[in-house]
Amino acid sequence: MTCITTPGHGIVTDTLIMHGIVKLFHVDKVRRIGDRYEICGDFSKMGETVEIIKEELEEYSRNSNVARYSIYLGKILDSNINVSVTDSWLKSFAESLNEIKDVEKAYTEDHKVRYKEGRSKSKALYNLYLPLGFIYGKYTVDNYDAVTKEYRVCGKCFSLSNLGLIFGTAIIRYISGNNANVTLTTLIPEDEMERDELLLIERFVEGKSENINIELTLKSVLVYALSFGETIYSFDSKVDALVWRLEKSGNFQRALQPEIFDITSLLDKIARLKSMSPDYTKILTLLVNKDYGDQSILDDLAEFLLFGGDYYRVIKEITFFINRINTLNNKVTKGIDLEKFANTFIELGKD
Ligand SMILES: [Zn+2]
Repeated sequence: MTCITTPGHGIVTDTLIMHGIVKLFHVDKVRRIGDRYEICGDFSKMGETVEIIKEELEEYSRNSNVARYSIYLGKILDSNINVSVTDSWLKSFAESLNEIKDVEKAYTEDHKVRYKEGRSKSKALYNLYLPLGFIYGKYTVDNYDAVTKEYRVCGKCFSLSNLGLIFGTAIIRYISGNNANVTLTTLIPEDEMERDELLLIERFVEGKSENINIELTLKSVLVYALSFGETIYSFDSKVDALVWRLEKSGNFQRALQPEIFDITSLLDKIARLKSMSPDYTKILTLLVNKDYGDQSILDDLAEFLLFGGDYYRVIKEITFFINRINTLNNKVTKGIDLEKFANTFIELGKD
């Protein structure tokens, strides 16, 4: 077993690279060190994933519609708010996949310096598009200017971060006229994590990409994204979620500061809600419904699930909410067992 280190391009890019490596190689253990990761395992052979993606990119080069319908390439399209770069992005991705080799030798502590990565005009390097990194507005809210601030990385970093985006993130999009925002969520070890759990945190988000009709806060998106699909009951390791958002308003794009949430107990609460109150996900769907939805209630719900607090208020809000829809359209709320939902919440509130 050997250990490698992610390059230090910021927590977003390093996280994506880590997920890309976990997807491709037999990784035994990942340890988070600040904004970087130490990854230990066997990097001598890759699974089939790269071949599958290469085939899709080859089809894309013949027919660009392929990307929209691909569950893999579609994820890149979904993350990208700047449609004009899609074609060059996917072409670069195809090219860079040939450079994933000798990962063991490449990812030493000084990788970034050795490969001359950073703000650069070198054509040998790849432009790190906005969803793949948080380089442009590190720790501040910053307008994104592609011409003057290009951040470039090697083919390994570029292809692995793309693979991490595809296999390691959940994407929630909101589009309204000329404005759009995309929120990306990825799960990471708080400290360290072993193989089984690493595969689980990828499987949990892999197929998740969705458009929603109302604008949500980061914590609401997080709760929403983690509540659907497979239910994960327990982890031995502590799990964090890294959440970041890209916004487009007219021609302006910016990345907002990423946030890290400890979700170890959130995952447990969601699992209990889903098993004890089967209407929980139906209520969530109504909270983001175009006609009836209410983001402030979802925000209170998310706040309670993440940080605890006034569960009674959430029950009251949701009861009013469901009753209100009921008077407008009782077909939508048919069968919702509010009492069961409230009881489950009271149970959670006792923790
Ligand atoms: Zn690199």
